[in-house]
Amino acid sequence: MLRSLFLAAAGSARLERLVESAPVSKGMVRRFVAGGSAEEAMRASRELADDGLAISLDHLGEDTETAEQARAARDEYVSLLTRLHDSGLTPAAEVSVKLSALGQRLDEKLARENARAICAAAAEAGTTVTLDAEDHTTTDATLETLLELRKDFPGTGAVLQAYLRRTEGDCRELAVAGSRVRLCKGAYAEPESVAFQSPLDVDKSYVRCLNILMSGAGYPMVATHDPRLIAIAEDRARWFDRSTGEYEFQLLYGVRPEEQARLAGGGHTVRVYLPYGRQWYGYLMRRLAERPANVAFFVKAVSSR
Ligand code: FAD
Repeated sequence: MLRSLFLAAAGSARLERLVESAPVSKGMVRRFVAGGSAEEAMRASRELADDGLAISLDHLGEDTETAEQARAARDEYVSLLTRLHDSGLTPAAEVSVKLSALGQRLDEKLARENARAICAAAAEAGTTVTLDAEDHTTTDATLETLLELRKDFPGTGAVLQAYLRRTEGDCRELAVAGSRVRLCKGAYAEPESVAFQSPLDVDKSYVRCLNILMSGAGYPMVATHDPRLIAIAEDRARWFDRSTGEYEFQLLYGVRPEEQARLAGGGHTVRVYLPYGRQWYGYLMRRLAERPANVAFFVKAVSSR
């Protein structure tokens, strides 16, 4: 119920203006977002890298409305990649990109060209790009773009969402040599026709997908904070004889930092997904939807003012 409310709020432009202008949102945003500027993102990346963590930076922005905005998002990534390289943060740092920010809803071809420019900049900087997964209406287009990009940039990563009924099939297709696949539960409000609704069904699907990826020839990127699924992933890595460099764990910035340290301390590659930028509203609403404790934190911040 709470989840649906926050996911609905994520799509409301009116609520977005209200929440963004409220000073009380700042503390909550700081917990999950590195800052508004590339400068702040670079600083947070440096701290994470010094702690032995890998990073995937996300310049926040979705639902781009004009080609100019899409090109500006592209340029932000290209300049970020140059800075990461010049600061010696690559290859530890890569970038995560939402095709919607690059104009996918306006013009498929434009989004693809923008993504290609970012992949070229990443290759130049000695690192990679992962294409985030958005709502299910974009899955086919995003996977098509991924296959196109991989012809020239084979390190381009995919994201698959375990809550989608189709995802086991997608895992089978993508569990091939050189293929980087991030497996997450999925963060959008999706209808029953395409997505499992109960947490148990989503978890079961996650384990089935994990089995396919861990037993396949690709590079699984296990993106979850769920202790049970993390333990199962560790078990499957042992079972399928994968050494620690043959898969990685990924967690969101600000979520379970002690678990990030524990996994890294155990010799695992751990990548922290690090968002930055001013368009944090949709991202924050999805984080609130995921966990009642986050809502309590938000409410406390509001009521203490
Ligand atoms: P949940 O069911 O949210 O949590 C399971 C358990 O984890 C909880 O019961 C609790 O024990 C523990 N836990 C969770 N949060 C906390 C916390 N704050 N503190 C303490 N314990 C906690 N979604 C997309 O749709 N597209 C994407 O491209 C995408 N990329 C992602 C990239 C990364 C690196 C990660 C980690 C997630 C990404 N997601 C993406 C979000 C993902 O789909 C989930 O919405 C999100 O990760 C929450 O799911 P979960 O697996 O952590 O499990």
